[in-house]
Amino acid sequence: MTTAKTARSPAQQLLDMLGPVDRFHDRDELGDFGVPARVTMEQLIEPVAAASPKSRLGPLEAVHAFWFAGMSCDGCSVAVTGATAPSVESLLLGSHPGLPRLILHHPVLNLEAGPNYLYAHEKAVRGELGAPYVVVLEGSISDETRAHSAGGYWSGQGEEPWGPNGEMRTVTTDEWIARLAPGAAATIAIGTCATWGGVPAAEGNPTGAMSLMDFLGKDYVSALGVPVVNVPGCAPVGDNFTETAAALLYFLQGFGPLPEFDELGRPAWLFGETVHRRCVRGAYYEEGTFAKEFGDPECLVEIGCWGPVVNCNITSRGAINHVGGCMNSGSACIGCTMPGFPDKFTPFYKRSPGSTVSTTASRMLGSVIRPLRMLTNEHLNRETRWDRQHEVPTGWARDKSEPSLTSDVVHYFYDKLRRSTDTARHDGVAWGKSAEPADGRTAASRSGGTGG
Ligand code: SF4
Repeated sequence: MTTAKTARSPAQQLLDMLGPVDRFHDRDELGDFGVPARVTMEQLIEPVAAASPKSRLGPLEAVHAFWFAGMSCDGCSVAVTGATAPSVESLLLGSHPGLPRLILHHPVLNLEAGPNYLYAHEKAVRGELGAPYVVVLEGSISDETRAHSAGGYWSGQGEEPWGPNGEMRTVTTDEWIARLAPGAAATIAIGTCATWGGVPAAEGNPTGAMSLMDFLGKDYVSALGVPVVNVPGCAPVGDNFTETAAALLYFLQGFGPLPEFDELGRPAWLFGETVHRRCVRGAYYEEGTFAKEFGDPECLVEIGCWGPVVNCNITSRGAINHVGGCMNSGSACIGCTMPGFPDKFTPFYKRSPGSTVSTTASRMLGSVIRPLRMLTNEHLNRETRWDRQHEVPTGWARDKSEPSLTSDVVHYFYDKLRRSTDTARHDGVAWGKSAEPADGRTAASRSGGTGG
């Protein structure tokens, strides 16, 4: 009997081509080269973290996070440093009760550089780190087998003595990830380039760019059995990443269940709804009024918004600290969180043909609903006392005419309908239309009632 051979993933094919590694930097020779502050990030932060009230509970004291940048603009790093709930700083200091402290290895943020920056990476490759680690990728994975056969590379991080005879060789981002991902407690792709390939993987690119899940293959699961976790967005909402990371850390610590992810590995509680369902402009769509140009306050669908069919929480979460973000600040949704981005959303800022059906329906319904709402809105903007006195006693309303006879008649019957099931009503007083008595007494007191 023959067994079907599982296809090798691009990551496995890369390692097949490069072979194993058995040489690393000589620590004694290096000294503190690459540590200009004479102290590593971990050494700098730990005393500060330990000085705060002891909040770390559970078996894990710390978890390492190896952050890599593939074909990236670094926008994901910028977004994450702006996160507030939780913030990166609070994760580094281990200040959340129950969460292990995060030891971040970030190519931009860390103090150490060069071979000393890579020291923890080497230990992780050798299985000598002594603590769990997660792998984080921003930017897409380029096909390094293409570049390698031409004698170059697309994106790399540091040099290691991993040449055939121990000579120094630039280690590509792909190679680090291919070697570290199988032993990671979790792997997280941040941003649309890492989650789905994004702009670098657009039609016509020469790099063979792909996502982290494409690179690791469909059989990939982390050491704890978790497939690739995807937090998309270009740039992503920083809080979406830190919140997902915190949820995973609670899981690793044994204090929480595995967070709920959808069938594409997105945090389900963050990407389960469309942009449109929580958009600040949604009511304009419903009433059939649409922006003609950017800067208009109405719904942006006719100038290119894809919000009704895009999974993202930017409209409710905002960009930073619940502030800003696409439609909140005037920009149309171009689908940047979606696996089909960018090719399935171009040309940008042009109306999608599919929106014609729903906008036509909204216009028809809105042409009836809007005038009725305006009529009621006008009525509700008046005190009942003003209705009785036929006057709004303010200089601001000097030019404002009194409600028309039609409005009075409509609201007379509307009020009757509204209060028809109100068993607590009292004749006259509640209607807002009873005559004002000359002596100031209420209709209820005149009739001997309570007025309640
Ligand atoms: Fe929906 Fe976009 Fe209009 Fe907002 S601006 S209501 S997301 S179509």
